[in-house]
Parts: sequence; C-alpha cells; structure tokens
Amino acid sequence: MQPVFRFAPSPNGYLHLGHAYSALLNAKLARETGGRFLLRIEDIDTVRCTPEKVEACFEDLAWLGLEWEQPVLRQSEHFARYRAVAADLQTRGLVYPCFCSRGDIARAAPTGRDPDGAPLYPGTCRSLSADQRAARRAAGQPFALRLDMGKALAQVGARTWAEAQDEHLGDFRCEPAMAERWGDVVLVRKDCPTSYHLAVVLDDAMQGVTHVVRGADLYAATGIHRVLLVLLGLPAPRYFHHGLIRDDEGKKLAKSAASLPLRQLRQDGARANDIRARLGFA
Ligand code: GLU
Repeated sequence: MQPVFRFAPSPNGYLHLGHAYSALLNAKLARETGGRFLLRIEDIDTVRCTPEKVEACFEDLAWLGLEWEQPVLRQSEHFARYRAVAADLQTRGLVYPCFCSRGDIARAAPTGRDPDGAPLYPGTCRSLSADQRAARRAAGQPFALRLDMGKALAQVGARTWAEAQDEHLGDFRCEPAMAERWGDVVLVRKDCPTSYHLAVVLDDAMQGVTHVVRGADLYAATGIHRVLLVLLGLPAPRYFHHGLIRDDEGKKLAKSAASLPLRQLRQDGARANDIRARLGFA
C-alpha cells in the first residue's frame, strides 16, 4: 500500500519553525517511501482562520520549497459531513449536549486537569434529564456535544495497540489508556459543527492517511483519536509523534525561537535554505 502522509496546520496564526519542521519531515518521509504528501487546512475556527492566514500558510510552505497535492482539503468546506457523523453518535447515545461555559466549569471546581492542563470537565451536563435538555434548548442556550467517555470506552473495550516500527521513524509508543484522562471531550463545539478531534479522525480516514506524523504535543490526543476510530469503524493510521525542534548542537530550541513566524524570519533576511538547514533538512 502506498504510504500517505499529511501536514495539517490550523492557520489561526502564521506558521512558525515548529510547523516548518513538521511539514518538512512529512514531505521527506513521503519522498523517501515513495508515498504521497497531502496538505490539509484545519480551519474549523472560521473566525480566527481568516482567508489571509490561509493564503499566508500556502505562501510560507511554498517558500520553504514544499509541494503538495491538489486540491487541498479545507475543513471549513466539510461541515455537513462532520454534522452527519455527530448526529449518528447522538443517535447511538454516545454524545450529550453540554451547556456549560468555561466559567461554569471553573466554578464547578474540578479536581483534575486534562493532559493539556485544562480543568477536567466534571460531567455536569451528563446527568441532565431529557426534559431539562429540551427546556434549555428551547430557551436557546448554546451547547456543545461531548463524548460520554465512560460509555465510549465500554464500547471500545480493553484494547492494546501494537507497538509499531518504521525504519524511518523508529519506535513509537502508544498509550491506549490515555483517553480516560481527558474525560468527556468536546466533539462538536458550541461555535462550529465539529471539534479538532472529530474532524481530524474523519479526514485522516477519508483521505486514506496511513502515517500520522505530528508533534509530541498531540501525543495524548492520539488516545482520543484511537477511541473515535473504533467507535466509527474507521481504519487506524499509524501514529508517530516527533520531538521538539532542535538546534545544530542537538539542544532544544528555545520556545520563543520555535514560535518565530516564518514570515518574520523571511523579512529579517533568512533564506529558505537556511531554515531547512537549521531544522536538519539540508
Ligand atoms: N491542526 C492541528 C494543529 O495545527 C494538527 C493536527 C494534526 O496534525 O493532527 O495543531
């Protein structure tokens, strides 16, 4: 099977060195394995992902010397598809409406934190009755849809995901139990018909992505994605998480350096070759 790699930025800001590393790595792996390299625009946040930011993303990646297949999937053009899957999950009783604001969640003083460090949702709306839900909806209260993680994990059952090896990527770890630590994650946001988790899983499957290679900051999220794949009966790609970008001496680049926008570096006189060399893709 021909490998399919992708780079899937959320252009709610300008691309920085960390993005450049991930994009260059995926393109290199595709090249070395005779695979395909896709670019996907994860612009579900249509307020922050402006057309100008999306154009800047294409421009920065092209400046780096990257080439990708056309047409480019833009998630904002696929809301109907996400909506249909969310409705199906609702019919199956796996998601429930949550009317809580961030403030409500903070005031509920949750004891734990999720792997991203945010207050763990205490499950406030899980136990609302059908009448209470109907009354709040009738009153026009906005709501998100949350995955009932307890039910989801019961359906998925105890599973382990085999460790995978790849000659280009080395070993990768997986931690199937990670999903529990997220609690009832949001699958449909209040402000748009999906969340990152739902859209990323659906699109990786639809686009036939075989290797998801992304930053270690998304390592814990992969636990959620694996649960969703099983619930939705989708084929699982292999997941790899790359470390933080490093400088020439192998030291981690300072956070501030990693978050420098590529266009600023370009304005300051950097050439694409310099950036590629700095990231180890000379
Ligand atoms: N769009 C996500 C981000 O920019 C990454 C998605 C992924 O690689 O799974 O953080």
